[in-house]
Amino acid sequence: MGVARGLLRRIRATGRIAEPAPAAAPEGLPEGVGDLAGSVQVRHVDAGSCNGCEIEIGQAFGPVYDAERYGARLVASPRHADALLVTGPVTRNMAEPLRRTYEAVPGPKRVVAVGDCARNCGVFAGAYGVVGAVGDVVPVDVEVPGCPPPPDAIVAALRGLTGR
Ligand code: SF4
Repeated sequence: MGVARGLLRRIRATGRIAEPAPAAAPEGLPEGVGDLAGSVQVRHVDAGSCNGCEIEIGQAFGPVYDAERYGARLVASPRHADALLVTGPVTRNMAEPLRRTYEAVPGPKRVVAVGDCARNCGVFAGAYGVVGAVGDVVPVDVEVPGCPPPPDAIVAALRGLTGR
């Protein structure tokens, strides 16, 4: 009981820790984002990342940056998703799974390439196991630059999809 009281006191004293809202959704939204009606279910695909981008995506959906407050939510299956959040250069082993995952997402669907590797292979360009950038395998609607991109840039890109 004492532990629970102490925890409640700590929660009350800490208050809200979420970052203030980042800049509003960027201009030049991809065509048809209105079809997603302000709520976007997101399936993350690691196509060959070093996991640096995953750490930032984890932050984007954590309590501080809290992408869910703008209507973006991670889901476990592409069949439940509206959008793919793809990281890494696409490796030989992940090209076909990425294609199949894209096909499994019902339309209208969007693809967000997160990080320089996803955009143009980044530091892995020319590596023997790399097929290409995400855009070489599936159509990309939004790119988030950076190695890795900061969580607020990822949140801003997701806000571009939700329009919130
Ligand atoms: S962009 Fe940078 S952090 Fe992200 S997968 Fe590539 S090397 Fe890793």
